[in-house]
Amino acid sequence: MRNRLRSVDQLLRCFPVLRGQPSLVRAAEKFPLAITPYYASLIQNPDASDPIFQMCVPQAQELNDPPFLCDDPLEEDHDMPVPGLVHRYPDRALLIATSTCAMYCRHCTRKRVAGARESSISPIRLQQVVAYLRQHPEIHDVIVSGGDPLTMTTESLERVLAAVRSVPTVDIIRIGTRTPVTMPQRITAELVEMLRKYHPLFINTHFNHPNEITTESTEACTRLADAGIPLGNQSVLLKGINDDPQLMERLCRALVKIRVKPYYMYQCDLVRGVEHFRTPVSRGIEIMEYLRGRLSGLAIPTFVIDAPHGGGKVPVLPNYIVSTSPTHTVLRNFEGMLVSYPEPHAAAPAGPPAPGAASPGVWELATGRASAIAPAETSRGGRRRQRHGVSAAEQLF
Ligand code: SF4
Repeated sequence: MRNRLRSVDQLLRCFPVLRGQPSLVRAAEKFPLAITPYYASLIQNPDASDPIFQMCVPQAQELNDPPFLCDDPLEEDHDMPVPGLVHRYPDRALLIATSTCAMYCRHCTRKRVAGARESSISPIRLQQVVAYLRQHPEIHDVIVSGGDPLTMTTESLERVLAAVRSVPTVDIIRIGTRTPVTMPQRITAELVEMLRKYHPLFINTHFNHPNEITTESTEACTRLADAGIPLGNQSVLLKGINDDPQLMERLCRALVKIRVKPYYMYQCDLVRGVEHFRTPVSRGIEIMEYLRGRLSGLAIPTFVIDAPHGGGKVPVLPNYIVSTSPTHTVLRNFEGMLVSYPEPHAAAPAGPPAPGAASPGVWELATGRASAIAPAETSRGGRRRQRHGVSAAEQLF
């Protein structure tokens, strides 16, 4: 933490090639700058072609300020019954325990907090938070977030966890942290020993690119997982960094290998300074279309848009329901196969295909006249043909 790059001068000493870019200075004045030596060491090329560089080094495009971007796109400040506690969903609350992060991500959604000044929750505020949690027994899940709580001293973080754990109606505690990615050396044996006292405890971290999965970050995740802490990952779709189906597949595969479950893939929030990172919603849907069927459900994140105006997370999926009737739902799978799922007590198939129909269509599936339509050539069909001498399509009809 002491050796982070905190100023443009320090950054230029490490990357002299960046000299002579006044917009870099202006972007660093607008949004805070901090890069750990470790994270800086992951930069392979100090330019916009490098995903690590893009996520941590201020860029001219951050100064682009379209009117639909704002400081608090999720309106968290409006859902704060006591300072530092966001209560949006009925059974969950999010506690902003610190405004410090090891690194200030250029795409951060909580820029109004993270790095605005570096401080942690005061004892009085923590008392107010605990009092609110006691008055609201419907809150069963508290997310300790920030900033990045794992940048706090072990003692300060333990004070927060102990205070939350003292509320009998809080079942689980979650920590949101990017420290395993940006400063994995912080995940010490001493920290993990403290954390394991507060089970059930979950950690959600924030890997965005396979280049962030290194020996060091793997070791950090291994330590946490070995302490029985389930790990999830929340990535943000970022243009030119990870908005690519094959790259996202690589990231998800690499995450499950280090025992981190891909949990959410976020559409970029409408926060100031991120216009150059934003992708069309259709890109996220396309990535989900690619992942489904190629990866096990365990390795597939849920694509969500955290809705503006505090609408909360809305899952967005490709369309898998093709048609419905009172008796059948017609689904499609990742191969393009259409199958008819009969509803409970569905009437018997309604008879032969409609007169003149050459082959079954969606209507025949929706009315129970046919049960599936399979593409002629799929790799699965090829395997079936090898084993049984007929393709999947031929077996169906
Ligand atoms: S670690 Fe999280 S809170 Fe901190 S700057 Fe990055 S995205 Fe924002």
